Amino acid sequence: MVAALLTWYRGAARDLPWRGTSDPYAIWVSEVMLQQTRVDTVVPYYERFVRRWPTVGTLAAASIDDVLQAWSGLGYYRRARQLHAAATEVVDQHGGKFPSTAAGLAGLTGIGRYTSGAIASIAFGEAAPVVDGNVIRVLSRVYELRDDMRSSRGQKQVWARAEELVPDGAPGDFNQALMELGATICRPRKADCDACPIRPSCRAYARGTVDELPIMAKRKAPKPVRLLAAVVWRGEALLVGQREADGLFGGMWEPPMVPDGESAEAGLAACGIGPLSCLEMVGRLKHQLSHRTMDVAVASGRFRARSRLPPPTSPYVRLAWRKPAEVALSTLAQKVVALASGAPT
Ligand code: SF4
Repeated sequence: MVAALLTWYRGAARDLPWRGTSDPYAIWVSEVMLQQTRVDTVVPYYERFVRRWPTVGTLAAASIDDVLQAWSGLGYYRRARQLHAAATEVVDQHGGKFPSTAAGLAGLTGIGRYTSGAIASIAFGEAAPVVDGNVIRVLSRVYELRDDMRSSRGQKQVWARAEELVPDGAPGDFNQALMELGATICRPRKADCDACPIRPSCRAYARGTVDELPIMAKRKAPKPVRLLAAVVWRGEALLVGQREADGLFGGMWEPPMVPDGESAEAGLAACGIGPLSCLEMVGRLKHQLSHRTMDVAVASGRFRARSRLPPPTSPYVRLAWRKPAEVALSTLAQKVVALASGAPT
């Protein structure tokens, strides 16, 4: 099975900008960006990011605001803050060189078992396994694993299988091959078993159970959240707040958003905006996060009265007038500003 998978991968792998490199920094950036994000979304972000910060030293020297701005629109902003923190650790604690083992890499901020295995196998040739959603799907089918893959028992099983399989020769290619097979052939729906190089080893194929696997317990339904966003301009500058580092959209900027309801007026007043009757309601939008469904009413206006902003209150650590292009806006904030500006969202 290992040989068949490697032969297939070497002939069929998609040409992606992070393939063919053994630079641990480039591999790390790509792996972090790819977590919970589609490949075609990641490609332009990755290319811009490594062009701007081509080494771990340049990333460590960058400001976190610039890194967040480069990440703006990719989501899961904690990844960007952890990337920056770990770059600083590599420079300060390891003389600018990445630890060369999975165990050493796992000591860096934000690098868990998956990322340390990916970097160690691809950059340093260590036979360390990786397990992501694609690998779970492939291995649960190949071995017909019937535990809930979100449970610790299911996770243990799949990691054990991946560990058994990863070869000493070409472990990086093998890990990438397994993930590539899951992304392109062993898909969630309509697996293309006729084109699969490891079909002779696949128990689910032999027993006709492919579509039943993997077994994943349902996640909790996302929580609905209703907000009121105020898009307030002063000339070309927009009133924006920078969110606290720990928490949702940590470190990102946005037009002030407060819980929609009776306290909305007071919430906006705490950001120096008001009264609400000075603003025009311009519409509503929905924004889906993994655990929340945001329903946002958007109001817009021009700033007239006070020029001094009040001290920030939670969830903002700073309030400021900025041109939108100058700050790291989350995707939700970009949609809010676009709606208020009359652009399609
Ligand atoms: S034979 Fe089908 S189910 Fe089995 S690994 Fe290949 S694509 Fe997946």
